[in-house]
Amino acid sequence: MTEMALSLLTQAEEEGLGGRALVDEPLARHTSYRIGGPADLYVVVRREEDLLGWLTLARRQRVSYFVMGRGTNLLVADQGMRGVVIENRCRGVRSLTRSEGILLQVQAGGSLSSLARRTAKEGLGGLEWAVGIPGTVGGAIVNNAGAYGGSIAQRLQRVTLLDNQGVLRRMAVSELELGYRTSRFKGESSVILSADFALQAESADLLSERVASCERERRKSQPKEPSAGSVFKNPGGEYAGRFIEKAGLKGDRIGDAQISPLHANYIVNLGQARASDVAALVRLVRERVWQKHGTLLELEIELVGDWEPEELAATIGSFGQDEECRDHPQL
Ligand SMILES: Cc1cc2nc3c(=O)[nH]c(=O)nc-3n(C[C@H](O)[C@H](O)[C@H](O)COP(=O)(O)OP(=O)(O)OC[C@H]3O[C@@H](n4cnc5c(N)ncnc54)[C@H](O)[C@@H]3O)c2cc1C
Repeated sequence: MTEMALSLLTQAEEEGLGGRALVDEPLARHTSYRIGGPADLYVVVRREEDLLGWLTLARRQRVSYFVMGRGTNLLVADQGMRGVVIENRCRGVRSLTRSEGILLQVQAGGSLSSLARRTAKEGLGGLEWAVGIPGTVGGAIVNNAGAYGGSIAQRLQRVTLLDNQGVLRRMAVSELELGYRTSRFKGESSVILSADFALQAESADLLSERVASCERERRKSQPKEPSAGSVFKNPGGEYAGRFIEKAGLKGDRIGDAQISPLHANYIVNLGQARASDVAALVRLVRERVWQKHGTLLELEIELVGDWEPEELAATIGSFGQDEECRDHPQL
Protein backbone atom coordinates (compact mmCIF):
# COMPACT_ATOMS: atom_id res chain seq x y z
CA MET A 1 0.00 0.00 0.00
CA THR A 2 1.34 3.49 -0.83
CA GLU A 3 1.90 6.03 1.95
CA MET A 4 -0.73 8.22 0.32
CA ALA A 5 -3.38 5.47 0.48
CA LEU A 6 -2.53 4.68 4.09
CA SER A 7 -2.73 8.34 5.11
CA LEU A 8 -6.09 8.84 3.32
CA LEU A 9 -7.54 5.69 4.85
CA THR A 10 -6.42 6.63 8.37
CA GLN A 11 -7.83 10.13 8.08
CA ALA A 12 -11.09 8.88 6.54
CA GLU A 13 -11.54 6.52 9.45
CA GLU A 14 -10.90 9.30 11.97
CA GLU A 15 -13.51 11.47 10.24
CA GLY A 16 -15.99 8.60 10.06
CA LEU A 17 -16.30 8.76 6.26
CA GLY A 18 -18.44 6.07 4.72
CA GLY A 19 -17.76 4.22 1.47
CA ARG A 20 -16.06 0.98 0.50
CA ALA A 21 -12.31 1.58 0.11
CA LEU A 22 -10.12 -0.86 -1.82
CA VAL A 23 -6.34 -0.64 -2.13
CA ASP A 24 -4.57 -1.39 -5.45
CA GLU A 25 -7.92 -2.24 -6.96
CA PRO A 26 -7.81 -3.39 -10.62
CA LEU A 27 -9.97 -0.97 -12.60
CA ALA A 28 -10.71 -3.74 -15.09
CA ARG A 29 -13.27 -4.83 -12.48
CA HIS A 30 -15.06 -1.49 -12.76
CA THR A 31 -15.06 -0.56 -16.44
CA SER A 32 -17.38 -1.78 -19.19
CA TYR A 33 -14.26 -2.60 -21.25
CA ARG A 34 -13.03 -4.96 -18.48
CA ILE A 35 -9.68 -3.26 -19.04
CA GLY A 36 -7.49 -1.13 -16.77
CA GLY A 37 -4.66 -1.48 -14.23
CA PRO A 38 -4.92 -0.76 -10.51
CA ALA A 39 -6.03 2.42 -8.75
CA ASP A 40 -3.87 3.23 -5.71
CA LEU A 41 -7.11 3.65 -3.81
CA TYR A 42 -10.64 2.96 -5.08
CA VAL A 43 -13.62 4.17 -3.07
CA VAL A 44 -17.28 3.43 -3.78
CA VAL A 45 -19.62 6.02 -2.24
CA ARG A 46 -23.40 5.85 -1.92
CA ARG A 47 -24.11 8.99 0.13
CA GLU A 48 -23.45 12.55 -1.00
CA GLU A 49 -21.91 13.48 2.35
CA ASP A 50 -19.33 10.69 1.89
CA LEU A 51 -18.59 11.81 -1.67
CA LEU A 52 -18.03 15.37 -0.46
CA GLY A 53 -16.00 14.10 2.50
CA TRP A 54 -13.61 12.06 0.35
CA LEU A 55 -13.22 14.91 -2.13
CA THR A 56 -12.45 17.40 0.63
CA LEU A 57 -9.97 14.99 2.19
CA ALA A 58 -8.19 14.35 -1.12
CA ARG A 59 -7.97 18.10 -1.78
CA ARG A 60 -6.66 18.77 1.73
CA GLN A 61 -3.97 16.07 1.40
CA ARG A 62 -3.15 17.18 -2.16
CA VAL A 63 -3.91 13.77 -3.56
CA SER A 64 -5.15 13.64 -7.14
CA TYR A 65 -8.70 12.32 -7.46
CA PHE A 66 -10.86 11.08 -10.30
CA VAL A 67 -14.63 10.67 -10.00
CA MET A 68 -16.19 8.09 -12.24
CA GLY A 69 -19.65 6.73 -12.83
CA ARG A 70 -19.85 3.20 -14.27
CA GLY A 71 -16.68 3.47 -16.35
CA THR A 72 -18.57 2.97 -19.62
CA ASN A 73 -16.79 5.64 -21.62
CA LEU A 74 -13.27 5.04 -20.35
CA LEU A 75 -10.12 3.34 -21.57
CA VAL A 76 -7.99 3.06 -18.43
CA ALA A 77 -4.22 2.60 -18.91
CA ASP A 78 -2.69 -0.82 -18.21
CA GLN A 79 -0.57 0.95 -15.57
CA GLY A 80 -3.76 2.01 -13.78
CA MET A 81 -4.41 5.34 -12.06
CA ARG A 82 -2.52 7.15 -9.35
CA GLY A 83 -4.28 8.80 -6.44
CA VAL A 84 -7.84 8.03 -5.46
CA VAL A 85 -10.59 6.95 -7.84
CA ILE A 86 -14.08 7.54 -6.47
CA GLU A 87 -17.01 5.62 -7.95
CA ASN A 88 -20.17 7.66 -7.46
CA ARG A 89 -23.20 5.53 -6.62
CA CYS A 90 -25.33 8.28 -5.06
CA ARG A 91 -28.64 7.79 -6.81
CA GLY A 92 -31.47 9.56 -5.01
CA VAL A 93 -34.36 11.01 -7.03
CA ARG A 94 -36.85 13.63 -5.93
CA SER A 95 -39.58 15.45 -7.79
CA LEU A 96 -39.62 19.21 -7.35
CA THR A 97 -42.73 20.66 -9.03
CA ARG A 98 -45.67 19.62 -11.09
CA SER A 99 -47.04 22.11 -13.64
CA GLU A 100 -47.35 21.09 -17.31
CA GLY A 101 -44.75 18.47 -16.52
CA ILE A 102 -42.38 17.70 -13.73
CA LEU A 103 -38.95 18.73 -12.58
CA LEU A 104 -36.89 15.83 -11.31
CA GLN A 105 -33.78 16.32 -9.22
CA VAL A 106 -31.55 13.26 -9.55
CA GLN A 107 -28.20 12.51 -7.97
CA ALA A 108 -25.39 12.08 -10.44
CA GLY A 109 -24.46 8.50 -9.52
CA GLY A 110 -27.79 6.98 -10.54
CA SER A 111 -28.16 4.94 -13.72
CA LEU A 112 -29.38 7.05 -16.66
CA SER A 113 -31.01 4.06 -18.32
CA SER A 114 -32.96 3.09 -15.17
CA LEU A 115 -34.11 6.68 -14.77
CA ALA A 116 -35.29 6.72 -18.39
CA ARG A 117 -37.13 3.42 -18.00
CA ARG A 118 -38.75 4.44 -14.73
CA THR A 119 -39.91 7.87 -15.89
CA ALA A 120 -41.35 6.42 -19.13
CA LYS A 121 -43.32 3.88 -17.10
CA GLU A 122 -44.74 6.71 -15.00
CA GLY A 123 -45.85 8.65 -18.09
CA LEU A 124 -43.06 11.22 -18.01
CA GLY A 125 -41.55 11.80 -21.43
CA GLY A 126 -38.18 13.12 -22.53
CA LEU A 127 -35.58 10.47 -21.72
CA GLU A 128 -36.78 7.39 -23.65
CA TRP A 129 -33.81 7.61 -26.03
CA ALA A 130 -31.50 6.95 -23.06
CA VAL A 131 -32.73 3.45 -22.29
CA GLY A 132 -29.76 1.15 -22.87
CA ILE A 133 -27.02 3.74 -22.31
CA PRO A 134 -25.12 2.02 -19.53
CA GLY A 135 -23.61 4.93 -17.54
CA THR A 136 -24.64 7.32 -14.80
CA VAL A 137 -26.41 10.66 -15.00
CA GLY A 138 -23.12 12.43 -14.10
CA GLY A 139 -21.13 10.70 -16.86
CA ALA A 140 -23.95 11.42 -19.31
CA ILE A 141 -23.85 15.15 -18.52
CA VAL A 142 -20.08 15.32 -18.94
CA ASN A 143 -20.41 13.75 -22.40
CA ASN A 144 -23.81 15.21 -23.26
CA ALA A 145 -24.78 11.62 -24.03
CA GLY A 146 -27.32 11.06 -26.76
CA ALA A 147 -28.95 8.50 -29.01
CA TYR A 148 -31.78 8.24 -31.54
CA GLY A 149 -32.17 12.00 -31.86
CA GLY A 150 -32.26 12.69 -28.11
CA SER A 151 -29.57 14.12 -25.88
CA ILE A 152 -29.04 15.26 -22.30
CA ALA A 153 -29.01 18.91 -23.39
CA GLN A 154 -32.68 18.74 -24.41
CA ARG A 155 -34.03 18.05 -20.90
CA LEU A 156 -31.36 19.21 -18.48
CA GLN A 157 -32.18 22.45 -16.62
CA ARG A 158 -29.35 22.89 -14.11
CA VAL A 159 -26.73 21.04 -12.12
CA THR A 160 -25.34 21.26 -8.60
CA LEU A 161 -21.61 20.70 -8.45
CA LEU A 162 -18.46 21.00 -6.43
CA ASP A 163 -16.26 23.17 -8.63
CA ASN A 164 -12.53 22.74 -9.15
CA GLN A 165 -11.86 25.21 -6.30
CA GLY A 166 -13.92 23.07 -3.91
CA VAL A 167 -16.91 25.47 -3.93
CA LEU A 168 -20.52 24.21 -4.13
CA ARG A 169 -22.37 25.84 -7.05
CA ARG A 170 -25.55 25.67 -9.08
CA MET A 171 -25.21 26.17 -12.81
CA ALA A 172 -27.88 26.62 -15.47
CA VAL A 173 -27.74 24.44 -18.56
CA SER A 174 -26.81 27.50 -20.66
CA GLU A 175 -23.53 27.71 -18.71
CA LEU A 176 -22.51 24.10 -19.29
CA GLU A 177 -21.24 24.45 -22.89
CA LEU A 178 -23.02 21.27 -23.93
CA GLY A 179 -22.17 20.26 -27.48
CA TYR A 180 -21.88 17.05 -29.48
CA ARG A 181 -20.55 14.58 -26.84
CA THR A 182 -18.92 17.37 -24.90
CA SER A 183 -19.39 19.90 -22.10
CA ARG A 184 -17.37 22.31 -19.99
CA PHE A 185 -16.69 19.41 -17.59
CA LYS A 186 -14.56 17.47 -20.08
CA GLY A 187 -11.02 17.18 -18.77
CA GLU A 188 -11.54 19.28 -15.65
CA SER A 189 -12.09 18.33 -12.05
CA SER A 190 -15.51 19.74 -11.09
CA VAL A 191 -17.76 17.05 -9.67
CA ILE A 192 -21.45 16.95 -10.56
CA LEU A 193 -23.58 16.10 -7.54
CA SER A 194 -27.10 16.30 -8.94
CA ALA A 195 -29.08 17.47 -11.93
CA ASP A 196 -32.58 18.81 -12.59
CA PHE A 197 -34.44 17.48 -15.62
CA ALA A 198 -37.72 18.88 -16.97
CA LEU A 199 -39.96 16.06 -18.19
CA GLN A 200 -43.44 16.27 -19.63
CA ALA A 201 -46.58 14.25 -18.99
CA GLU A 202 -47.28 11.89 -21.93
CA SER A 203 -49.13 8.66 -22.59
CA ALA A 204 -47.27 5.83 -20.82
CA ASP A 205 -48.23 3.48 -23.69
CA LEU A 206 -46.70 5.77 -26.27
CA LEU A 207 -43.56 6.14 -24.17
CA SER A 208 -43.22 2.39 -23.70
CA GLU A 209 -43.46 1.96 -27.51
CA ARG A 210 -40.62 4.47 -27.94
CA VAL A 211 -38.57 2.66 -25.30
CA ALA A 212 -39.18 -0.68 -27.03
CA SER A 213 -38.16 0.75 -30.39
CA CYS A 214 -34.85 2.09 -28.97
CA GLU A 215 -34.21 -1.30 -27.36
CA ARG A 216 -34.84 -3.11 -30.65
CA GLU A 217 -32.43 -0.80 -32.48
CA ARG A 218 -29.74 -1.38 -29.83
CA ARG A 219 -30.14 -5.16 -29.95
CA LYS A 220 -29.64 -5.08 -33.72
CA SER A 221 -26.62 -2.80 -33.85
CA GLN A 222 -24.77 -3.13 -30.55
CA PRO A 223 -22.03 -5.73 -30.16
CA LYS A 224 -22.39 -8.03 -27.14
CA GLU A 225 -18.70 -8.12 -26.16
CA PRO A 226 -17.29 -5.69 -23.57
CA SER A 227 -16.74 -2.21 -25.02
CA ALA A 228 -17.07 1.48 -24.22
CA GLY A 229 -19.65 2.13 -26.93
CA SER A 230 -18.70 4.18 -29.98
CA VAL A 231 -14.98 4.85 -30.01
CA PHE A 232 -15.03 7.84 -32.38
CA LYS A 233 -17.31 10.83 -32.76
CA ASN A 234 -19.23 10.99 -36.01
CA PRO A 235 -17.45 13.58 -38.13
CA GLY A 236 -19.61 16.37 -39.61
CA GLY A 237 -22.90 14.54 -40.04
CA GLU A 238 -21.30 11.34 -41.39
CA TYR A 239 -20.95 8.02 -39.57
CA ALA A 240 -17.45 7.23 -38.28
CA GLY A 241 -18.33 3.52 -38.64
CA ARG A 242 -18.84 3.89 -42.42
CA PHE A 243 -15.40 5.46 -42.86
CA ILE A 244 -13.84 2.62 -40.87
CA GLU A 245 -15.71 0.00 -42.86
CA LYS A 246 -14.72 1.61 -46.17
CA ALA A 247 -11.10 1.60 -45.02
CA GLY A 248 -11.43 -2.20 -44.87
CA LEU A 249 -10.87 -2.43 -41.13
CA LYS A 250 -13.97 -4.23 -39.89
CA GLY A 251 -12.93 -7.31 -37.92
CA ASP A 252 -9.24 -6.29 -37.69
CA ARG A 253 -7.58 -7.36 -34.47
CA ILE A 254 -4.62 -6.46 -32.28
CA GLY A 255 -4.21 -8.88 -29.39
CA ASP A 256 -7.70 -9.44 -28.04
CA ALA A 257 -8.98 -6.04 -29.16
CA GLN A 258 -11.09 -6.16 -32.30
CA ILE A 259 -12.92 -3.71 -34.53
CA SER A 260 -16.35 -5.20 -34.21
CA PRO A 261 -17.55 -7.08 -37.30
CA LEU A 262 -21.09 -5.96 -36.33
CA HIS A 263 -20.48 -2.23 -35.79
CA ALA A 264 -17.19 -0.76 -37.04
CA ASN A 265 -17.23 2.15 -34.59
CA TYR A 266 -16.96 -0.28 -31.67
CA ILE A 267 -13.64 -1.76 -30.59
CA VAL A 268 -14.49 -4.77 -28.46
CA ASN A 269 -12.58 -6.82 -25.91
CA LEU A 270 -12.60 -10.47 -26.94
CA GLY A 271 -11.32 -11.54 -23.52
CA GLN A 272 -7.82 -10.53 -22.53
CA ALA A 273 -7.41 -7.23 -24.41
CA ARG A 274 -5.07 -4.69 -22.88
CA ALA A 275 -5.51 -0.93 -23.02
CA SER A 276 -2.42 -0.77 -25.25
CA ASP A 277 -4.10 -3.15 -27.76
CA VAL A 278 -7.16 -0.91 -27.97
CA ALA A 279 -4.96 2.18 -28.27
CA ALA A 280 -2.98 0.53 -31.09
CA LEU A 281 -6.23 -0.20 -32.97
CA VAL A 282 -7.36 3.40 -32.41
CA ARG A 283 -4.12 4.62 -34.03
CA LEU A 284 -4.52 2.20 -36.92
CA VAL A 285 -8.08 3.36 -37.56
CA ARG A 286 -7.23 7.05 -37.38
CA GLU A 287 -4.25 6.67 -39.73
CA ARG A 288 -6.09 4.55 -42.30
CA VAL A 289 -9.22 6.71 -42.32
CA TRP A 290 -7.06 9.79 -42.66
CA GLN A 291 -5.11 8.26 -45.57
CA LYS A 292 -8.23 7.03 -47.37
CA HIS A 293 -10.78 9.75 -46.65
CA GLY A 294 -8.79 12.77 -45.43
CA THR A 295 -10.88 12.78 -42.24
CA LEU A 296 -9.25 12.88 -38.83
CA LEU A 297 -11.46 10.96 -36.43
CA GLU A 298 -11.79 12.39 -32.94
CA LEU A 299 -12.14 10.11 -29.93
CA GLU A 300 -15.45 9.80 -28.12
CA ILE A 301 -14.03 7.45 -25.47
CA GLU A 302 -11.71 8.97 -22.90
CA LEU A 303 -8.18 7.70 -22.20
CA VAL A 304 -7.43 8.07 -18.50
CA GLY A 305 -4.73 6.99 -16.05
CA ASP A 306 -1.02 6.43 -16.28
CA TRP A 307 -0.35 6.38 -20.04
CA GLU A 308 3.12 6.90 -21.46
CA PRO A 309 2.98 10.51 -22.74
CA GLU A 310 4.20 9.44 -26.21
CA GLU A 311 1.61 6.69 -26.49
CA LEU A 312 -1.13 9.05 -25.37
CA ALA A 313 -0.09 11.78 -27.79
CA ALA A 314 0.18 9.32 -30.68
CA THR A 315 -3.30 7.93 -29.91
CA ILE A 316 -5.30 11.10 -29.38
CA GLY A 317 -3.14 13.75 -31.09
CA SER A 318 -3.55 15.21 -34.55
CA PHE A 319 -0.42 13.73 -36.23
CA GLY A 320 0.62 16.76 -38.28
CA GLN A 321 -2.82 17.41 -39.71
CA ASP A 322 -1.89 20.84 -41.07
CA GLU A 323 0.87 19.67 -43.41
CA GLU A 324 -0.99 16.55 -44.50
CA CYS A 325 -4.14 18.60 -45.17
CA ARG A 326 -2.29 20.60 -47.79
CA ASP A 327 -0.83 17.51 -49.47
CA HIS A 328 -3.75 15.15 -49.29
CA PRO A 329 -5.03 14.24 -52.74
CA GLN A 330 -8.71 14.01 -51.74
CA LEU A 331 -8.96 17.40 -50.02
C1 LIG B 1 -22.57 -0.69 -24.84
C2 LIG B 1 -22.44 0.82 -24.73
C3 LIG B 1 -23.33 1.63 -25.41
C4 LIG B 1 -23.23 3.02 -25.30
N1 LIG B 1 -24.12 3.79 -25.99
C5 LIG B 1 -24.03 5.13 -25.89
C6 LIG B 1 -24.96 5.96 -26.59
O1 LIG B 1 -25.87 5.51 -27.27
N2 LIG B 1 -24.82 7.31 -26.49
C7 LIG B 1 -23.84 7.88 -25.72
O2 LIG B 1 -23.77 9.11 -25.65
N3 LIG B 1 -22.95 7.12 -25.05
C8 LIG B 1 -23.02 5.77 -25.12
N4 LIG B 1 -22.12 4.99 -24.44
C9 LIG B 1 -21.01 5.62 -23.70
C10 LIG B 1 -21.28 5.85 -22.20
O3 LIG B 1 -22.22 4.93 -21.70
C11 LIG B 1 -21.77 7.26 -21.92
O4 LIG B 1 -20.80 8.21 -22.31
C12 LIG B 1 -22.09 7.45 -20.45
O5 LIG B 1 -22.79 8.65 -20.31
C13 LIG B 1 -20.86 7.47 -19.53
O6 LIG B 1 -21.31 7.42 -18.18
P1 LIG B 1 -20.44 6.75 -17.03
O7 LIG B 1 -21.16 6.96 -15.75
O8 LIG B 1 -20.08 5.37 -17.36
O9 LIG B 1 -19.16 7.69 -17.07
P2 LIG B 1 -17.59 7.24 -16.92
O10 LIG B 1 -17.25 6.45 -18.10
O11 LIG B 1 -17.45 6.59 -15.56
O12 LIG B 1 -16.92 8.63 -16.93
C14 LIG B 1 -16.93 9.43 -18.10
C15 LIG B 1 -16.43 10.83 -17.73
O13 LIG B 1 -17.39 11.45 -16.89
C16 LIG B 1 -16.77 11.89 -15.68
N5 LIG B 1 -17.75 11.78 -14.60
C17 LIG B 1 -18.55 10.73 -14.29
N6 LIG B 1 -19.35 11.05 -13.27
C18 LIG B 1 -19.06 12.34 -12.93
C19 LIG B 1 -19.54 13.25 -11.96
N7 LIG B 1 -20.50 12.95 -11.09
N8 LIG B 1 -19.01 14.50 -11.91
C20 LIG B 1 -18.02 14.86 -12.77
N9 LIG B 1 -17.52 14.04 -13.71
C21 LIG B 1 -18.03 12.79 -13.79
C22 LIG B 1 -15.57 10.96 -15.49
O14 LIG B 1 -14.59 11.59 -14.68
C23 LIG B 1 -15.12 10.80 -16.93
O15 LIG B 1 -14.37 11.93 -17.31
C24 LIG B 1 -22.21 3.60 -24.51
C25 LIG B 1 -21.32 2.77 -23.82
C26 LIG B 1 -21.45 1.38 -23.92
C27 LIG B 1 -20.49 0.51 -23.16
